[in-house]
Amino acid sequence: MLKRLFFIYLILITTIYANIEKDELNFFNKEQISKINKKIETIEKERKVNINVFILKEEPENQLIKDKKSVIILLFKKENGNIGINLKFTNDINIVDYKSEIDNLLDELSPLIINQEYEDFIYELLANITDILIFVEKDSIEAQTTIEKNRENKKIIVKNILNVILIIFLVTILSFGIYALYLVYIKTRDKTRCKECNVNMHIVDKIESKNGIIKIYECPKCKKIKQVVEKK
Ligand SMILES: [Zn+2]
Repeated sequence: MLKRLFFIYLILITTIYANIEKDELNFFNKEQISKINKKIETIEKERKVNINVFILKEEPENQLIKDKKSVIILLFKKENGNIGINLKFTNDINIVDYKSEIDNLLDELSPLIINQEYEDFIYELLANITDILIFVEKDSIEAQTTIEKNRENKKIIVKNILNVILIIFLVTILSFGIYALYLVYIKTRDKTRCKECNVNMHIVDKIESKNGIIKIYECPKCKKIKQVVEKK
């Protein structure tokens, strides 16, 4: 019993929220409406949007948008008897780049309305709306990947800067180290060099003492003797 009630409830809901909400001008018969609604439902599922069609005796005063992510197709009888066409997207569908294409599309399809080929009109329109929705989706995915790429690039830049700073730091420390070693080398070299002859003196003797090892150097040219104490 409950199941049956639920089923009836479901049927009611789907009827109330049929995609062709109103057909006051009787453009379509019941069979056509159910076929169009099936098409609309497929698009809604695939593109995750709501599509509502209103066919009204006169231009509505109020906005017909009720849901998020919605496409509203509005056909209405103007005061002069012509049919007005209005296609609206909610703000959460970013069609900014496609406004002129949408205008062109409505211009292109208006002869079908004038010739009262309403079924062709609605299917053509739905197909084009699907294309636009696919483009909009693609755009938003691309925008997202660009944002992610930029974020990734920034991370890489920061990483590179840190690496450069680290390298500069290491090179500086290394340079100081090398310079210190060089100073030590110069000092010891000068100690064992004969300034007059500008040649290295040769070690000739080593004497152990309290203070350390005393090394005796002799200049091979002038035979001058020099003592160098190496502290323990
Ligand atoms: Zn000498």
